[in-house]
Amino acid sequence: MAEKIYNFSAGPAVLPRAVLEEVQRDLLALPGVGMSILEISHRSKTFEAIIQGAEIGLRKLLEIPDNYHVLFLQGGASLQFSMVPMNLLPAGGKADYINTGVWSKKAIKEAQKVGQVNVAGSSESDGFSRIPKQEELNLDPEAAYVHFTSNNTIYGTEWKYEPKVGSVPLVCDTSSDMLSRPLRVDKYSLIYAGAQKNMGPAGVTLVIIKDEMLKRVPKGLPSMLDYTIHAENKSLYNTPPCFAIYILGLVCQWLLQHGGLEAMAKTNQEKAKLIYDAIDATEFYRGVAQPDSRSLMNVTFRLPSEDLEKQFVKESTAAGLDGLKGHRSAGGIRASIYNAFPMEGVTALVDFMREFERKNG
Ligand code: PMP
Repeated sequence: MAEKIYNFSAGPAVLPRAVLEEVQRDLLALPGVGMSILEISHRSKTFEAIIQGAEIGLRKLLEIPDNYHVLFLQGGASLQFSMVPMNLLPAGGKADYINTGVWSKKAIKEAQKVGQVNVAGSSESDGFSRIPKQEELNLDPEAAYVHFTSNNTIYGTEWKYEPKVGSVPLVCDTSSDMLSRPLRVDKYSLIYAGAQKNMGPAGVTLVIIKDEMLKRVPKGLPSMLDYTIHAENKSLYNTPPCFAIYILGLVCQWLLQHGGLEAMAKTNQEKAKLIYDAIDATEFYRGVAQPDSRSLMNVTFRLPSEDLEKQFVKESTAAGLDGLKGHRSAGGIRASIYNAFPMEGVTALVDFMREFERKNG
C-alpha cells in the first residue's frame, strides 16, 4: 500500500487533519470536563456551549443575518427534499425546481408528493454537463419558491450565479459546495446541506432559514419534520447528533483560522485550475462539465475508453490516490477536492495523469 493516501471521495470526505487530531486528543475527555463528547448529555452546559459555538462559527463565516435561524437536523439532505415542500409549499400552491442532475431530480420527486412542481429549467438534454443560463429559466412569479442545487456532485457542475427570482423565495441545496466560497445568505430564504463534504462527518444536516418563512409552515406536521419546532427548540427538540455538531464546530474554527471563505475560495480556484488545465492540455482527457459550469469541488473527466478508466482507477488507487472512480450513475473519473483536500494531493493527481497518459496515450 502507498504510504500516503490522498482521499478524493465525494463524501463523506477528507477533513482537516488538525481537526481530527484535536478530536483524537480530546475523545476520552473534553478539557476541563473529564467526560467524552460521546458521553455527555445534550442538555449539559458543555454541549450547550458546543452547539452555540458551532452556530457562532457558521454565522461568522457566512455572515448570516440575524433574521435567519441556523438549525442542525438529521436525515441528511435527502430528508430536506421532503421537509422543504412539506413546510413551504402551501396546499394548492406550486413550486419551481431547476433540474441539474440526480440530486435535483430526487428533490423534485419528493416535492411532487406534496404539491405541484414546475420544472423551470433543466440541463438533462445535455447530459447535465452544464448549468442553465438565466434566460433559459421559465420562472413563475406566483411560485411558492424556486429550488436549485448549487453544486452537482455527480456531474461536476456548479452554479456561478444565483438565479434571479424577483420576490419569489430562493431555496438551495448547497450540500457539496457549502463553505467552499462566500455565500450571500441574504439572497436566500432557505439553504440546506448535508455536512459530510465540507463541514464535518455524516449525521448532521445544516438548515439556514429566514425567520419569515416559518410563518408559512402548516399546522399539524409531524414534530420532527416541522421547522418551527426545531427553531423554537434551538435544534434541541430531541437528541441532536452531538458528535457531528462538535466536529462541525471545530471545522468552522479551522476555517476561521485559515482566512475564512474568501481564502478557501481562492485556494479552491487554484486547486481546481491545476486539474482542469491538465485536462485541457491534451486530447486524452475530456472534461465532463462544460467550461463555464465547471465545479471547483468535484472535477469530472473521461478517458478514451471505459477500460482505460478502469485501469486509471486501479493504478491511481495503488499509487495512493483514493476515491477517483466516478459516481455509479455517471461513470468516468471524479476528483473531489473539498476545502481540506491538500494542494500536494492535487499535484500528485496531475503528475499521475501525465504519467498515465505517457504510458497509455
Ligand atoms: N444533494 C447533493 C448535492 C448531494 O451531493 C447529496 C449527497 N451526495 C445529497 C443531496 C444527498 O445527501 P444525503 O446523503 O445527506 O441525504
